[in-house]
Amino acid sequence: MRITDVEALVLRMPHIDVGAADSTQDALIVRVHTDEGIVGIGEVDASPTVVKAVIDAPPSHAISSGLREILIGEDPRDIERLWDKMYQGSVFYGRRGVAIMALSGLDIALYDILGKKLGVPVYRLLGGARRKSVPAYASTLMPDTPEEAQEHASELAARGFKAMKFGWGPFGQSEDLDEELVAAVRRGAGEQVEILLDIGFGWRNADHAIKMTRRIERYRPFWIEEPLLPDDVDGYARLAGAVDVPIAAGEENTTRYEFSDLLERGRVDIVQPDVTRCGGLTEAKRIAALAHARGKPCVPHAWSTGVISAASLHLIATIPNALFLEYCVRPNPLNTSLVKNPVQVKDGVATVPEAPGLGVELDEAELARFAVQA
Ligand code: MG
Repeated sequence: MRITDVEALVLRMPHIDVGAADSTQDALIVRVHTDEGIVGIGEVDASPTVVKAVIDAPPSHAISSGLREILIGEDPRDIERLWDKMYQGSVFYGRRGVAIMALSGLDIALYDILGKKLGVPVYRLLGGARRKSVPAYASTLMPDTPEEAQEHASELAARGFKAMKFGWGPFGQSEDLDEELVAAVRRGAGEQVEILLDIGFGWRNADHAIKMTRRIERYRPFWIEEPLLPDDVDGYARLAGAVDVPIAAGEENTTRYEFSDLLERGRVDIVQPDVTRCGGLTEAKRIAALAHARGKPCVPHAWSTGVISAASLHLIATIPNALFLEYCVRPNPLNTSLVKNPVQVKDGVATVPEAPGLGVELDEAELARFAVQA
């Protein structure tokens, strides 16, 4: 079996709100074609045009090549060997960041190919499912006002979610507003639902984050996510050492090396690798093991199309330390209708797909509707 082509498709909604931290407004989908007619799909949640360049770039020399060229002619079933080949073939410009993100989408597509070839779901290839259903937390943006926050929280609770995350939006603009927003989410969610808060780097530094965490801990947040910039690793350590609320981070990080640093030096309580960015399913499995060896949860970040939801769910089914699937509830069509058979979530529980590969199929009409030249 040989890889015959690699496509990087840039999708984009006609109108983008650039001020919102909403990555469902565009997408980068990869398709890896084989000589047996099996096509693997994957995605990368980053800047689609930049990722496409990393995939399509011609080779400059032995350790500086676009990823497409590295994969053409290879046996797609040699997933870990091809991970190393892509890493080493891009190491001159890569090692971290967008090169690893582009590699991630291709790694996911290789798992999809192998699952389809063998007629088994991807979770089977990752070591087998420990569970066939997984609690899903509703993930959404924090509205501008406490009134809207309370209403949105109660609406999600009425849909059966037992956990929900509110993030970004106005967090960090005003200490009083931050507290009012959190109080409103707690009121809307009720006492039985877990509330997760994503501060979106909104707090100035570790001291400010410690002060704010103490101020809102009475509303019992399940975790506080990314209050500081990802590179303030020492700030994370100070914060995590000073407060009782678990601190979560890692969605921007790539490779086991960065997660090792985040765990060892940053002392975070929960890591959040994104399977479409951290190095694919191959690397996410290793990162989950790093966290598990330290007794810490690994709850993947997932906020884009139905492809990332399925890939994340296969991983989560197989690892011992995932607590939830992140289930984006944004209404944008790239999130809701790019795949024909999205992951099913009912009463806050996601069912692990059983069809071969990732178990999701792209809707060609939706693909054509949002495809742009890049
Ligand atoms: Mg986040």
